[in-house]
Amino acid sequence: MAASRHNLLGLSLHQLSEFAERLGEKRYRGKQLFEWLYAKGAESFADMTTLSKATRERLEESACIEHVAIASQHQSHDDATTKFLVTLHDGLNVESVLIPPRIAFRSGDAENDDEQRRLTLCISSQAGCPLDCKFCATATMGFLRNLTAGEIISQVLQIRKAAHRPITNIVFMGMGEPMMNYENVMTAVEILISGLNIAARRITISTAGWADHIRRMADDGCKAKLAVSLHSAVDETRAMLMPINKKYNLDQLAASIEYYHATTKKRVTYEYIFFDGINDTEHEVARLIKFARRVPCKVNIIPFHSIAFTGVQGIGSQLRPSPKMNAIADRLREANLSVFVRSNAGEDIAAACGQLVVKTERQRARQTRIFDRTAVGQ
Ligand code: SAH
Repeated sequence: MAASRHNLLGLSLHQLSEFAERLGEKRYRGKQLFEWLYAKGAESFADMTTLSKATRERLEESACIEHVAIASQHQSHDDATTKFLVTLHDGLNVESVLIPPRIAFRSGDAENDDEQRRLTLCISSQAGCPLDCKFCATATMGFLRNLTAGEIISQVLQIRKAAHRPITNIVFMGMGEPMMNYENVMTAVEILISGLNIAARRITISTAGWADHIRRMADDGCKAKLAVSLHSAVDETRAMLMPINKKYNLDQLAASIEYYHATTKKRVTYEYIFFDGINDTEHEVARLIKFARRVPCKVNIIPFHSIAFTGVQGIGSQLRPSPKMNAIADRLREANLSVFVRSNAGEDIAAACGQLVVKTERQRARQTRIFDRTAVGQ
């Protein structure tokens, strides 16, 4: 693929229209390209049969459609969760996870029929992550780079094709901090809504608490939903688990969430892992209840997926799931909070932020070491 060719995947409708004009085509060609690339998922210009042969040839010369590649798929044994290892053009890996509706949702009524059709894709926004959360596998990789809007969208298009079913919900809960790749994530969200026809209320951006961009998301009128990985409403505890709390403390985070709610009128989701003896004490739970009452919200409790396999040192190696998780969920419900306890879905395939990539990289490193030893005759 010639380096000078312009990758069209990840361009918005406006950008594609401008590209068409630069190519000497009518502006409305941009709309046609937009439909072919996203709604129809065309992978070559030859597939774009509503364009004239001459236009297709011009596109062939000056542009390309650069997709990510699915390197492997891992199906969970306990449910139908599938984890995809995705390779970017420079060889870096990220992961995406396809999550079917929970068995528990199965029922005949209309609302649950909707649940039945739900197919959620969890996507990555960065390769690695700079935030260093102590419970997270991706953190052990460090930060590699931001994904382009095209790479974010391509995860959805490639997995939609592999799944043979429409993807109804998108969550930015794979690798990386979406708010630190703000422009590309927002371009991707715009394309998901207008190009892939995924309703904005079915798209969730999850952040470790980058407060300035929570405000920016509200100011920009972003229609996607906001989730905040909270994990403690006590500054010292949160700073220990999530170093980002030293940049944006709980007061700053709360102020940005209040601003977001006042501007958008939307409810916020808090994600919470309870760790034994760390954030599962009376004091911690009382502070969580107080924090959660500041704006209308939902608390999503996530069972901890061990990251011991990463060889993590320090506090990360001491984290254990709290045996009080379900009791705390009841306590929060008694406090009139809306609480959802996420299932352990996909634990056997490492379906939590960064786990598959880190496992794969380690396996590869081990294999390379074995290979090296063999090569030198050891
Ligand atoms: N940086 C963003 C999105 C990526 S993490 C954020 O922090 O929200 C997506 C979710 O996975 C977060 O809620 C995070 O807390 C959770 N997570 C990370 N590591 C986990 C683990 N080992 N077990 C369970 N959930 C984990």
